[in-house]
Amino acid sequence: MEKSVFTRIMEQEIPARFEYEDDQVIVIHDIAPKAPIHLLIIPRKPIPTLMDVSEEDLPLIGHIHQVAQMLAKKLEVKGFRIVNNCGKEGGQEVFHLHYHFLAGFQQE
Ligand code: AMP
Repeated sequence: MEKSVFTRIMEQEIPARFEYEDDQVIVIHDIAPKAPIHLLIIPRKPIPTLMDVSEEDLPLIGHIHQVAQMLAKKLEVKGFRIVNNCGKEGGQEVFHLHYHFLAGFQQE
């Protein structure tokens, strides 16, 4: 299978603005932000879509939630939105599992 753009970022073939990384995930700033803070939480494991997540990946999915909490504290945001686009019909463009972390929306 061809390497995804995100794997190429992990392998430093393509530059990106990193916010965080550990042995399981990287967090980068989206190149085309849709919110004042728009990060992508990306597992190092190249799982194509949410529909390909298996039981053995569930600790990784839990870890992604912990990373989201950590990001909210680090960036001092009180609220955020997590989005996963799954499949072409779900608007997914990069077929390497990732979660959008969107924050910094205007308060009413
Ligand atoms: P999705 O539609 O959920 O697959 O989202 C893919 C996201 O990846 C989009 O928001 C893109 O702007 C973002 N993206 C694509 N290429 C890059 C890149 N090289 N660096 C950072 N973000 C990227």
